[in-house]
Amino acid sequence: MHTIIVGAGFWGAVIAERMASVLDAEVTVIDERPHIGGNCHSSLDEETGIECHRYGSHIFHTSNEEVWNYINRFSAFNGYQHKVFTMCRGKVYTMPINLSTIENFYGRHMTPSEAEAFLQGEIARDHIDNPANLEEKAISLIGRPLYEAFIQGYTQKQWEHDPKLLPAYIITRLPFRTSYNANYFADPWQGVPVDGYFKIFERMLDNPRITLRLETSFESVRDSLSADTLVIYTGLPDRLFDYRFGELEWRSLRCEWEVVPVRDWQGTAVMNYADKDVPYTRIHEFKHYHPERTRPMLSPRSVICREYSRTWHRGDEAYYPVNDERNNALYAKYQAEAAKNPNLILGGRLGAYRYWDMDKAIADALATFREKIAPRFGK
Ligand SMILES: Cc1cc2nc3c(=O)[nH]c(=O)nc-3n(C[C@H](O)[C@H](O)[C@H](O)COP(=O)(O)OP(=O)(O)OC[C@H]3O[C@@H](n4cnc5c(N)ncnc54)[C@H](O)[C@@H]3O)c2cc1C
Repeated sequence: MHTIIVGAGFWGAVIAERMASVLDAEVTVIDERPHIGGNCHSSLDEETGIECHRYGSHIFHTSNEEVWNYINRFSAFNGYQHKVFTMCRGKVYTMPINLSTIENFYGRHMTPSEAEAFLQGEIARDHIDNPANLEEKAISLIGRPLYEAFIQGYTQKQWEHDPKLLPAYIITRLPFRTSYNANYFADPWQGVPVDGYFKIFERMLDNPRITLRLETSFESVRDSLSADTLVIYTGLPDRLFDYRFGELEWRSLRCEWEVVPVRDWQGTAVMNYADKDVPYTRIHEFKHYHPERTRPMLSPRSVICREYSRTWHRGDEAYYPVNDERNNALYAKYQAEAAKNPNLILGGRLGAYRYWDMDKAIADALATFREKIAPRFGK
């Protein structure tokens, strides 16, 4: 049996690596893009030597020991701990909202318990017991002033809708920390690969049993496959079935790249922009992910990318699934259709119609390999 894996992102690359190294199976990996790595792809900027994450900032973080041990076989990590700041009305605050954000916003010192009691008072002022939309939900979690400063404009830009018109379920929680902890992630293992994401993928796919074909879409090869080919597909499920039940909705992004003639543009890797009248949602500055790389760090230039959120249209990159009732029900139809074909495995974040961090994608691929693929090969 031959296997074709559609997609050289993390999910497809893990499956290929496991099949080739554990099962000694021959696999062909195709990807329609001209590079491996899927959305985690990175490459060096030629002018500055700065490594840029081409589909938005990617920070590895996990609490899953199996995933951490697995990924460390392909690269060590530099221990980078992500911190996010937000520009709001001309001032910079720590995000997520912590004690420092609260103090700076309200202009006075508070102890943790004072801050908690104070915010409960702010929340109570609006008397929202059953939030009917995203705005009400956010106010019921952090109070109106913090909502209007940090959430309202950002959410409006992210979804291109007034938060009053968005469903409450989009935010399940909006944590505020009554400590000065400014770390974005709580996982014990965090960092960015010291050799770069592109090296991880090169190493994973470096096996004589793996044949790689880039700039090759599934559509361009599907008619030439024999009936017993195992197809492991990490693309859009609706596209696989020619959109026969309708189109799944996604959010997409537009990135505007610039090499700026300054050593340090914003002093941190990611700056959010909360105000509605600033059209982008974030600016990424990539040199900050590798403080250990002296030459790019000291370069008198820096690479930044302004990120704009936008509605996905067919042909755009699909970034965030819109997991509302309609889309989830539509996805279930495609899933049922896929299940009818015993030689088809649907996977990856696109195939699962889920937002997954890298560690979740890797964990799911390892589980799929163990439970669905190895048994087919008698292991
Ligand atoms: C903006 C953004 C920022 C993120 N930041 C982080 C982060 O900081 N930390 C973190 O842990 N995770 C982050 N993630 C999540 C991370 O990108 C995913 O977990 C990861 O990409 C999942 O890998 P995948 O293989 O499932 O999908 P992908 O990486 O999307 O790979 C799928 C591949 O399949 C190919 N493909 C699809 N259809 C076809 C077809 N028909 N023919 C041929 N090829 C096809 C695509 O070209 C693509 O290369 C972020 C995601 C986004 C959108």
